[in-house]
Amino acid sequence: MPLTHRSRRKRSTRIAVTLLSGLLPIVLGSGILYMQAKRTLEQSAGETAEQALQQFDLMLDNTAEAARVLLPLAGKNCEDVKLALREQVTRRPFVRSTNLVWDNTLYCSSLFGQFKEAVNAGDYHQGKLWLMNGNPVTPDTALLIYRLSDGRGGALTTLDGYHLSNILRLIGRQTLLMLQVGDNWLSADGRVHQGPLPALPVAHSMLESERYGFNVSAGFPEGETWRYMAVNYPPLFSLLIFFGVISGAIGHVVQKRSNSPSHEMLRALEAGEFIPYFQPVVHGDSKQWSGAEVLMRWNHPKEGLVRPDLFIPFAEHSGLIVPMTRSLMQQTAALLGPHSAAFAKPFHIGINITASHCKDLELVEDCRDLLAAFAPGSVELVLELTERELIEPNDMTLQLFEQLHALGVIIAIDDFGTGHSSLGYLRAFKVDFLKIDQSFVAMIGIDALSRHILDSIIELSAKLDLAIVAEGVETQAQDDYLTEHQVDFMQGYLFAKPMPAADFIRALSDR
Ligand code: C2E
Ligand code: CA
Ligand code: CA
Repeated sequence: MPLTHRSRRKRSTRIAVTLLSGLLPIVLGSGILYMQAKRTLEQSAGETAEQALQQFDLMLDNTAEAARVLLPLAGKNCEDVKLALREQVTRRPFVRSTNLVWDNTLYCSSLFGQFKEAVNAGDYHQGKLWLMNGNPVTPDTALLIYRLSDGRGGALTTLDGYHLSNILRLIGRQTLLMLQVGDNWLSADGRVHQGPLPALPVAHSMLESERYGFNVSAGFPEGETWRYMAVNYPPLFSLLIFFGVISGAIGHVVQKRSNSPSHEMLRALEAGEFIPYFQPVVHGDSKQWSGAEVLMRWNHPKEGLVRPDLFIPFAEHSGLIVPMTRSLMQQTAALLGPHSAAFAKPFHIGINITASHCKDLELVEDCRDLLAAFAPGSVELVLELTERELIEPNDMTLQLFEQLHALGVIIAIDDFGTGHSSLGYLRAFKVDFLKIDQSFVAMIGIDALSRHILDSIIELSAKLDLAIVAEGVETQAQDDYLTEHQVDFMQGYLFAKPMPAADFIRALSDR
């Protein structure tokens, strides 16, 4: 059937949408966490670089101060000043050695006293700092040399690379931290390298010392953001997965609801897919058309014409049957209204009504609207209420039927014989017609008991002064039997099948 078929067809889309709605919060949340982790790492790298820069500046302040004190001694005899050189080494933290220069020659050293070595100012970054990979005394320990010069004289003070790499290690910890002086740079393992710094793809932060012109670089290797998230965010990830599951479930439920039969029928109602078919009802004696029953069909775009017993139960369950019936009545009015002149007066128009349509007085308006479309007196509106679904007599329903009668509407009990309507019920709602259920008609000539019930119904209706319609008349034998028993009206394939409006109107005008 159209309702279940449709949901099966859409299954793959449903699964995809469910997955998407589940993944959405996870992906969005992960994106936000990723940005957050990136920001944290950037902040951390920035702070680390800042701290290291301060420490290096502080160390170099000591080294530079020693050079400033010694500079006036440049040019003096080494033997006379070497104690002053050693005093600076002893008194100043971080200072490893001090040296005096004259005419670009290192001539006096705190370590060796009298000495001789050429000094090339070009080795020094901005003429001030030279980061070197050890010297002949300590070939494996990095050195940072500070140079201060004035005219022909100069002072060189050195800072032990051990202190520098210590800072890189202690402050850096998880961060990759490097000290760069000109073309050379020092890594946390204490080694001096030449050339460009290695790439720091994540959260790279570089600060330059205003006083000494060196750089400090901090950052993280590739993939650090994900590693950081994996270590620090597992509880948040669990939360995201939880939200993902909830969101997926909501997506699933919402789709299920929008794929529900009632949703599909609402769509069909709005698309005008519920259309009326008309089955003529004939007079028992003359077999002239006395009217027609309006039967609903679903003109489904893919399934074609759908029989009402396949969708009416869903429509009743969802409450859509009321607007569907209203639409059917409006279409009937629009289709048949203009042809009222062709009716053998008064023409019966039978509409099937469910009990849920009788919950308020709106039905009166629906009937009034339908009748207004026909020439006055040309039609009699028959409301068919099935006996299987009895209406509870109360103030509301009694008032409703009172007003319907005042409007001239005829009440028929449909499928009579299959339910339990009592005499009191027939009276309370001022029933005018009984429509004998087709199962009794079908048993004519076959089953004696059914025929007995049929006879009783015919007899009862005569006593109660109720008109009778026999439904489902298919054979001549049934017609003969019913005619013999003076059944007022007949309906069945023997006379005509339910047909679309155009056929019905054509047949009507042919008569
Ligand atoms: P129903 O009100 O008893 O309608 C008579 C049903 O018997 C119709 O079936 C009609 O096509 C069928 N019928 C007529 N003559 C013969 C015959 O000689 N032999 C046989 N075997 N069947 C015959 P249909 O149109 O399939 O409708 C089935 C039921 O669906 C209706 O039974 C009615 O209960 C419900 N229905 C149809 N339209 C509406 C509607 O607009 N509103 C409501 N609430 N129910 C409707
Ligand atoms: Ca009916
Ligand atoms: Ca019936």
